Amino acid sequence: MTDIAIRNALILDGSGAEGFEADIGISGGMIESVGTVGACQTEINGEGLTLAPGLIDTHAHDDGAFLRHPDMTFKLSQGVTTVVSGNCGFSAIPFDPDADARAASGGILSGLGGNFTDLSGYFDAVLEAKPAINNMMLVGHNTVRSLAVSDQKRAPSEREMQTMQGHVEQALEQGACGFSTGLIYHPGRYSQTEEIIRLASLAGSANALYTTHMRNEGDRLLEAVEEALQIGDEARVHTHISHHKAAGPGNWGKVTPSLSRIDRAIASGQAVSMDVYPYTAGSGRMIEYFNLDRINRDLAEVIRIASCPAFRAYEGRMLKDIAAEQQRDITELTREILTAPRGENTICIQFIIDEADVETNLRWPEMMVGSDGIPDLRGKPHPRLYGTFAKILGHYVRDRALMSLPEAIRRMTSLPAATFGMRQRGMIQTGFHADLVLFDPALVADTATYDEPQTLAQGIDTVIVNGKLAFQRGQHQMAGSGQMLRYRETAHGGPKL
Ligand SMILES: [Zn+2]
Repeated sequence: MTDIAIRNALILDGSGAEGFEADIGISGGMIESVGTVGACQTEINGEGLTLAPGLIDTHAHDDGAFLRHPDMTFKLSQGVTTVVSGNCGFSAIPFDPDADARAASGGILSGLGGNFTDLSGYFDAVLEAKPAINNMMLVGHNTVRSLAVSDQKRAPSEREMQTMQGHVEQALEQGACGFSTGLIYHPGRYSQTEEIIRLASLAGSANALYTTHMRNEGDRLLEAVEEALQIGDEARVHTHISHHKAAGPGNWGKVTPSLSRIDRAIASGQAVSMDVYPYTAGSGRMIEYFNLDRINRDLAEVIRIASCPAFRAYEGRMLKDIAAEQQRDITELTREILTAPRGENTICIQFIIDEADVETNLRWPEMMVGSDGIPDLRGKPHPRLYGTFAKILGHYVRDRALMSLPEAIRRMTSLPAATFGMRQRGMIQTGFHADLVLFDPALVADTATYDEPQTLAQGIDTVIVNGKLAFQRGQHQMAGSGQMLRYRETAHGGPKL
């Protein structure tokens, strides 16, 4: 007998086609039928609602969250059923219990290690925790480089290069969908283009991806795009540019020439894709954005503290307001925060992006959506963690009409599933995995704000993950049915087809 039937909903199948009415039958974790469905244990009435494939977050830093917060409420409640983790060069694997787990990113972006060393071990550990959603992993350059070379400003020796290559190859063999870099961060910023080409070519050989937080997203954005395209071309690898943006008022508008350059590369036959987050602020580890010898005053003026172990009272406040209240120079305040005990773990939010550029990015026909959410739930995280996908569907699709709803669903389902090698996902089709979201297009909206960032989206009725009821009307069902996905293969630990 069929496990679950969803009846009377308007179906958007993920292809971008207009909706149609059908009943959906789910059995054994898969979509069993699309059309008419017989008797069933669990009936869901989707009347007045729209049913789409579960949404895919192409840019997550959830490696550690899968172990610390396996309920993944911040993603599941938006209708997200799969994330791609290990971005910006930071991944939970490889992990060396003898090395400093905080060497890369202070453990913030990738999460602290656990009882594992490689991707298979990490997948086992996460499955043990019964995750609510699916995870696809990248292997990160910063992580690999900090294990092989530590945080040293030099080129790797040939032997260190081989160590890095070994880590990348092993992760790809165990199911990683690609190799990621974060070339503004330590220690990736110390690498020359040639080093990245050699490592990215391993992903190229595996027909996997090279994803990059480029070396510069501000004054030298266009040069950084050239480097990304050169790496993709010489490494013969599909290149995915993460969170495309132009940072800083002096650079606003540069997303247009950047997109034109990428269009030309695609027209010439190069495989390039992209994602964006729908906000005008970025967020990350504050210490990565400042040179302590020369604090950038303009940047400090637009920074808000998300979480700060040394000064909890600063969380949720703009630096300029704190400085004014204390009648202090803002650069001095910045230095004090960053040099305090555990100051390097301060996470900030920086208002550096133009809203017009966000819309230009979203109008690009193949633009995907990645939250870039940082799942540090202390303090006031960037609202993109809880709000990204509902904001796309509510604000940008319904209110701003930047694209049609079927097209938005395609960009957040079948397009990323195909790009990131998620087999039999991202479409409502018989024989596909039953990852689904039932929502109300008239009501869907993000509610997370900079002041109150940890609030659930509105208008998301039901979320199904691998055929199990995972979330319904604001209530987490604790189904724990998420799987660990291997690139273009069946899930880790799953049955062989
Ligand atoms: Zn990034």
